[in-house]
Amino acid sequence: MVMDLPKNDHFIDSDHILSVIKTLVEIESPTSSPAGVNRVLDEVVRLFGDSGATIDRFHTTPEYGDIVRVRSHPASQEPGILVLSHVDTVHPIGTLHGALPYRREGDKVFGPGIFDMKACFAIAIAAFKSIAAGVGTAKLPITMLFTPDEEVGSPVSRQTIEAEAARAKYVLVTEPTREGGKVVTARKGVGRFVIKATGAPSHAGTAHQKGHSAIRAMAEIIGTIEGFTDYDRGITTNVGLISGGTGVNVIPEHCMIEADLRICDLAAADEMIARFMALKPSNPHVKLTVEGGLNRPPYKHDEVVDRLFVAAAKIANDLGFKLEAVPQTGGGADGNFTAVMGIPTLDGLGVEGNGAHTNDEYILFSSIEPRTRFMHALMTRLA
Ligand SMILES: [Zn+2]
Repeated sequence: MVMDLPKNDHFIDSDHILSVIKTLVEIESPTSSPAGVNRVLDEVVRLFGDSGATIDRFHTTPEYGDIVRVRSHPASQEPGILVLSHVDTVHPIGTLHGALPYRREGDKVFGPGIFDMKACFAIAIAAFKSIAAGVGTAKLPITMLFTPDEEVGSPVSRQTIEAEAARAKYVLVTEPTREGGKVVTARKGVGRFVIKATGAPSHAGTAHQKGHSAIRAMAEIIGTIEGFTDYDRGITTNVGLISGGTGVNVIPEHCMIEADLRICDLAAADEMIARFMALKPSNPHVKLTVEGGLNRPPYKHDEVVDRLFVAAAKIANDLGFKLEAVPQTGGGADGNFTAVMGIPTLDGLGVEGNGAHTNDEYILFSSIEPRTRFMHALMTRLA
């Protein structure tokens, strides 16, 4: 098969792409702000305006923003390339004018959500548009999906992601690269649990012995959950949220926690979920309810994933760099859903940078050009 390498070697304009990134970053879009998320999607739709692509936009629920789907060949039934991106960020509204303003310092460009993942999907849009403009030809139809809820586990986009993946030959995920440009071919699975304790309220001074403290019972439960962590087996737990009580002089009736679980394989998931479901307070007067389970299944570097990795590594080699993958990372993402379906999935295809989810989040300007070129090559050469 003839390779369709771009004729014009200078088709990528990093300064222009950075101006797009700036526009995207300056619209704050935490998952909890459907208005912000939808304004980013408006911009995404505008960016595809002159590409000739078919754009569909789906409303989800009032709590979340929309989903935008872009197809290069909407009539084609041939399994193609699915490119997954999320437009939501973890940064609350106000971060842009507070702790993390958009700014450039040498090669570093800072901003909320710039690395995870606005710059990362901006290069995928640039690559798609360059193909639409006649730089190279894609061998497969390309579908790009822009979702509003990845940072909270994709409750409203998971179905759409899975439906699109079911008709795809390959899935490319534009999450940030790791450790100097490495891609991701394996991620841990993620579990989420909401645990509620209900005790008996009482006056803390006059009737202490009549009360049954939900907070005290939950304190024991928290210790048990934290004790589930087993670094040797790659199992971690974290109680990340807690609330409860009504006053300092009241024996608390209610306490609620939310816990996060990470596991490497499905057997460990089953085992750990069973341990969560079996949690019991030592005080028999306190009632405990446990809700939750596996949110994202583990994504493993199996033979199916390896075939795509090897193809991508060959493409990278032709572009003059060695493609490497990081070992299984702890962070789950939307590629977990598609990999477990048996669809070859390659993740971490964004730009280089660091500090995702922190107030030091930045990208490297110098990585825009090579990573756009790589994305363009994947889109045109995967067959
Ligand atoms: Zn992300």
